[in-house]
Amino acid sequence: MKYRRFGKTELNLSVFSLGLMRCCYNETQLFETVDKAIALGINHFEMAKAYGKSEQYFGSALKQIEIPREKIIITTKFLPVSEPETIAKSLEESLSNLQVDYIDCVAIHGINTWEHLELLTKENSCLTVLQQAKKTGKIRHIGFSTHGDLDLITAMIKTNLFEFINLHYYYFWQRNAPILDLAQKYDLGTFIISPVDKGGLLYQPSAKLTNICQPFTPLYLNYRFLLSDRNISTLSLGASNPQELITPLSIADEDGELTSLEIETFQKIENALTDTLKTDQCSQCHLCLPCPENINIPEILRLRNLGVGLEMNEYASYRYQMLENAGHWFWGKKGDKCTQCGDCLPKCPEKLDIPQLLADSHSRYNGSSRRRLWD
Ligand code: SF4
Ligand code: SF4
Repeated sequence: MKYRRFGKTELNLSVFSLGLMRCCYNETQLFETVDKAIALGINHFEMAKAYGKSEQYFGSALKQIEIPREKIIITTKFLPVSEPETIAKSLEESLSNLQVDYIDCVAIHGINTWEHLELLTKENSCLTVLQQAKKTGKIRHIGFSTHGDLDLITAMIKTNLFEFINLHYYYFWQRNAPILDLAQKYDLGTFIISPVDKGGLLYQPSAKLTNICQPFTPLYLNYRFLLSDRNISTLSLGASNPQELITPLSIADEDGELTSLEIETFQKIENALTDTLKTDQCSQCHLCLPCPENINIPEILRLRNLGVGLEMNEYASYRYQMLENAGHWFWGKKGDKCTQCGDCLPKCPEKLDIPQLLADSHSRYNGSSRRRLWD
């Protein structure tokens, strides 16, 4: 296991962190997964008030494993709220659930809208409570997680109020690349969330993607893409049992620069996309926004790129069906809401027939609606 400095927190984190979102519903499973993760060198554990009994189960697992408190780094997350008393109560509950007298990192969970940012920056906000708790030693570092857009995340970082960021970023979605550069400039620790699940359902890749990635696996390549980036501190690993730790952690020492064979393989992926999609490929420039119907055009066409270009249909359907079902966690309407007003057409440098491609995406990927795992 390699370890990296977590920005200005000065913590030294394992390059893989165990996220407890998927093992938080079964105490034995959580204990066994945490125990194995520690044995394999993971020292950072991420949970949230919103993830079942993750804090309670993790607290009792720590007691049973009998590892010194200072060897373990705990991150928990609180949803942004308007009443500071709520977060003060949440913090006391977390300390009690975890059976610890301090929490290393507390993140405001899901700063996804400008209203959330406003909530945090007003006088006597939930952030004020956390800052006070930091002074008294109950927590050590404050950060945030986000599914927001580039402008919002940039504004958050520039407040200079945070020491780390939990961010979405993976090979198949690199829109947050400038945020990684900015985070580096502000010396924030960077924690990449859901790189495999939201990053492409890479545990169950399509046959086409698997073939293109030979001699590597899609999972391996995505991890190498992330581990080779020195702007990234640590990657979330959402194992639900000890066995699911094994494959990812077999890569945990491979954090050097990309090899020429890996770079060639990424190029093969890009070639397959271009060859298959031809003149229908969305370049993800986002210039078509805003759409008067609030359709998330770039995301829908990104999913279509991957579904049509790489046969990642399961992933495309999984993500498409989250639209209109996850509130501010995943903004925008589905393609069937297009009124064919034509506003987006002159803005698209690729001259895509956006209404037609949206209709096509809807018929390919729409199905019964899905909800977020922890809703
Ligand atoms: S044509 Fe459809 S997608 Fe384009 S701006 Fe109008 S409603 Fe939005
Ligand atoms: S403007 Fe065109 S190429 Fe750019 S994101 Fe929108 S649809 Fe894709």
